[in-house]
Amino acid sequence: AFIFNELNFDNHEQVVFVSEAKSGLKGIIAVHNTNLGPAMGGCRMWNYASEAHAINDVLRLSRGMTYKNAVAGLPIGGGKSVIIGNPKTDKTPALFEALGEALERLAGRYITAEDVGTSPADMAYVATKTGYVAGLGDSGDPSPFTALGCFVGAQAAVKHQLKRDSMEGLVVALQGLGHVGYDYARRLHAAGAKLIVADIDEAALERARTELGAEIVSTSAIYDVQADIYAPCALGATLNPDTLDRLKVKIVAGAANNQLATADVGDLLRQKGVLYAPDFVINAGGIIKVCYEYLNKPQADVEAHVREIGDTLAEVFTRADREGRSTSVVADEVAEARFKR
Ligand code: NAD
Repeated sequence: AFIFNELNFDNHEQVVFVSEAKSGLKGIIAVHNTNLGPAMGGCRMWNYASEAHAINDVLRLSRGMTYKNAVAGLPIGGGKSVIIGNPKTDKTPALFEALGEALERLAGRYITAEDVGTSPADMAYVATKTGYVAGLGDSGDPSPFTALGCFVGAQAAVKHQLKRDSMEGLVVALQGLGHVGYDYARRLHAAGAKLIVADIDEAALERARTELGAEIVSTSAIYDVQADIYAPCALGATLNPDTLDRLKVKIVAGAANNQLATADVGDLLRQKGVLYAPDFVINAGGIIKVCYEYLNKPQADVEAHVREIGDTLAEVFTRADREGRSTSVVADEVAEARFKR
């Protein structure tokens, strides 16, 4: 009863437990769905509190990848893997080579990539044993494409919610000036938006202030500022009952994964009149880039594909209004219509 009833099994095609004594690898590979193509999703390394936490995490994440890849219109399915261990102290080449051998045995049903706790260098060890690994960094960081997706997503949201074609003069409260956030901020600034930013990284804040004319607020005050758009680009679960009472924005459009603390927050946002661009739709630019690279599709077509995120969101927003339902639920259905048989 434990495995099938208590865990988020949700129609996973295949879940593989890998234990390799020599390297000490304890890993789980979850293949959620391959109807659209081989499952693709990153490998997370984390010091999980228990094996149950690890299983639940990988199942939740792999299911999420199916939805994200499907809604992005990519010819790939959804999967994810986790390595149980401390990414700061437990990494060895042998660990990632053993993972590579496990992927090889799956014969391409799952393709991995870097994720939280793993790096391109780790993936290079995986690649010594298997070709089923993407995003080795041949053409660099996918974050600028994630940022582009966020920007076109924000444009679609502004058009739908504020009936405006321009960002000129809009105020954006942007949380997290990292790989994605800074590039997104740069695009917003270039389009005439005013930025209010928060980060824990002083250097990033100073750069945003001097280069982009951004106003700086504390990491807590970012939820309270008067703005048109809230752009979460740092942490997950920042849309929760506490912040919902504080946010004064009309739109949420940012890159962070798992922005809704619980599924019902999607509906609460709708009731509050806030248009939410579902995270897994708006932040797919990076996976689009990585997928094109892995499948050797023309790099020249990546940008046009990422820009389609704007069209997909426009469709989601319109349907959500028409049906009086949350954008996140509608986006799930758009994905399901593509991958479910
Ligand atoms: P990053 O680590 O480069 O940037 C995160 C930034 O957030 C850093 O500048 C960090 O200092 C800041 N930060 C941390 N805690 C904060 C806090 N409490 N308040 C404000 N700022 C804080 O990460 P990234 O690659 O830019 O990704 C950002 C988010 O987008 C993550 O949630 C990530 O999962 C998601 N995402 C990224 C990509 C991608 O292509 N990189 C793709 C999809 C989703």
